[in-house]
Amino acid sequence: MAPARIVFVRAIIIQLIWFLRCQLAGSCASGEQRTSSDTSVLCRACGQELASGADIGFVPSRLALSTRNDTLVNGRRVNVQLFENPHGVQFEVVTFRKADVTKHWPADKRFSWYPGYSWTVATCPRCRSHVGWAFQPAEWTDTITKHKFEESGNTFVALITHQILTEDFASSLLMTPKSFVS
Ligand SMILES: [Zn+2]
Repeated sequence: MAPARIVFVRAIIIQLIWFLRCQLAGSCASGEQRTSSDTSVLCRACGQELASGADIGFVPSRLALSTRNDTLVNGRRVNVQLFENPHGVQFEVVTFRKADVTKHWPADKRFSWYPGYSWTVATCPRCRSHVGWAFQPAEWTDTITKHKFEESGNTFVALITHQILTEDFASSLLMTPKSFVS
């Protein structure tokens, strides 16, 4: 084969490998984007999957200092609420109907950002970073089982925006190797 033809065939093979890698990885910069609802929400510290974008459920609180809209999940508007703890530290949170986080019972009824709910600290199950708080009805006993929390439709998790990132955003940070850039 002529050298030019060999180069051409090699380019085709490289493109094919790249295409297959993208397919196996499930996403690709130039490929079809996953829909916003099934975007994963990841721990910013370690990349652990904490929740699905489909599980976002807005729980408004009259104690929020402010509420704003953000495109936390690609293309989808989500409500971000700003709260302040008794030490004057402010946190922006997004609420989820469920999330794969470790809850640290017993729950505390004091200083709750959601009247009628008690709270526990929620940490990443992999790296143990503090990622938010889990809320349960205040009339419940302070210590409950993980099963009871997860089965109830009256519990939710507030994740701190600065402690999470979306899979879409993480994918956008992946760079194409220089050898594939023409
Ligand atoms: Zn983590």
